[in-house]
Amino acid sequence: MVSLPIYLDNHATTRTDPRVLAKMIPYFSEIYGNSSSVSHRFGWDAEAAVNAAREQAAALIGAEPREIVFTSGATEANNLAIKGVLPFLKKKGNHIVSASIEHRAVLDPLKRLARDEGYEVTFLTPDSTGKISSESVAQVLTDQTVLVSVMAANNEVGTINPIHDIGRLCLDRGIVFHSDATQAVGKLPLNVVESGIGLLSLTAHKFYGPKGIGALYVRRHMQPVRLQPLFDGGGHERGFRSGTLAVPLIVGLGQACQIAGAEMAQESARILGLRERLHLGLMERVPEIFLNGHPTERLPGNLNLSFAYVEGEALMMAMREVAVSSGSACTSANPEPSHVLRGMGVEEDMARASLRFGIGRFNTEEEIDHAVNAVANAVARLRVYSTAWMDRA
Ligand SMILES: *Cc1c(COP(=O)(O)O)cnc(C)c1O
Repeated sequence: MVSLPIYLDNHATTRTDPRVLAKMIPYFSEIYGNSSSVSHRFGWDAEAAVNAAREQAAALIGAEPREIVFTSGATEANNLAIKGVLPFLKKKGNHIVSASIEHRAVLDPLKRLARDEGYEVTFLTPDSTGKISSESVAQVLTDQTVLVSVMAANNEVGTINPIHDIGRLCLDRGIVFHSDATQAVGKLPLNVVESGIGLLSLTAHKFYGPKGIGALYVRRHMQPVRLQPLFDGGGHERGFRSGTLAVPLIVGLGQACQIAGAEMAQESARILGLRERLHLGLMERVPEIFLNGHPTERLPGNLNLSFAYVEGEALMMAMREVAVSSGSACTSANPEPSHVLRGMGVEEDMARASLRFGIGRFNTEEEIDHAVNAVANAVARLRVYSTAWMDRA
């Protein structure tokens, strides 16, 4: 029996893994000390737990524990990375390179810096699959470029960027490379050292950890990256991020990293199988659907489809037993079609006709089969009312 509704929105957030939750609970109820309290057992135990989680997080991305700064999530990590690094690079230059398909937690800080602080920002346009090539980055670098920020994998279409090549390019040129790896962490193998990454953002709730905890990797070897904190206070996290550490959440983040590292290969294969089952099932049942994103180089759980002659929003409402996102729903107050799809060159009506399916750890084959049925039926029902569909050539 499939329990409804079926959750297929794992790019928005994920269920906290029960194994993660179980590790967290004692840190609310028994081991509730402040990890900065150096004078008693409560503090020492909390500190030991934080240290263990820092090691788990570092291990997942090939970093050293001292290079991990805990934050409230990826939004804060992106802001700390971008706003924190620039003051130290001011003398070198004022040019930043990023991409039009980044998450708003990167786009908005960059737009503010361009508007208020005199920075020049080049927003690269991706190819039609949503990919930013290292050649396109190389082409726009100048002797004023101090920062490049390109995401590891896109949150709407799942396309994976060549961050290894972009990172090596930046390292060779002495330019800081930041990557918002929020969608890639725990799903794709990452190595910050090999890939020349200076700053990397992640958040636990996208890979089966709790909401409200993330981290910024800050390189401390080779070309160390200096950062100015966003706010002042007790000097926690080596001064990069003041504020009492959220010990239970940090323990959860660490455990989520541990599980992701151990199970990544086998989980990716299983999720990819479910994704293909969904895609093939829909292609069999529904004519005129189009894939958005790269056909192969994308996150295993991502399927972003445009259903011609149907509004994504209307389709979502017509299939309430399946929880997904539409290509224009990112901010429901703002019905603009997705800036990612538009940035890839998808026509406005096809962008509005899109749905994003995000398959995750807790989805089953039965759920996928149920979803295929629900989506196919809903599309057929809506197309009956579409004169454009009836009149198509
Ligand atoms: C979810 C997401 C964020 C924001 O993460 P929070 O932890 O909610 O702040 C940033 N970037 C990408 C690519 C995301 O998918």
